[in-house]
Amino acid sequence: MLRPRHPIKELEAVLRSAEKQGWKVDRGKGYFKMFCTCGELHKKFVHLTPSDPNYEKNLRGYLKSRTCWKEDMP
Ligand SMILES: [Zn+2]
Repeated sequence: MLRPRHPIKELEAVLRSAEKQGWKVDRGKGYFKMFCTCGELHKKFVHLTPSDPNYEKNLRGYLKSRTCWKEDMP
């Protein structure tokens, strides 16, 4: 499954972690879209160049609290 990589390595790691959990990741225009296949329509946009230095932390926090995200599996 080929998809363009996220230019920011921390965010690419989030996308890879998502894919390991069965989420789908699509590249949009200026963002990536990640969505869960659990049937509850969990989804999140991931910006290409977020200006918030806490973006990755907040993104993971959102995923953990609002979706069926499981923190990094080995
Ligand atoms: Zn889900």
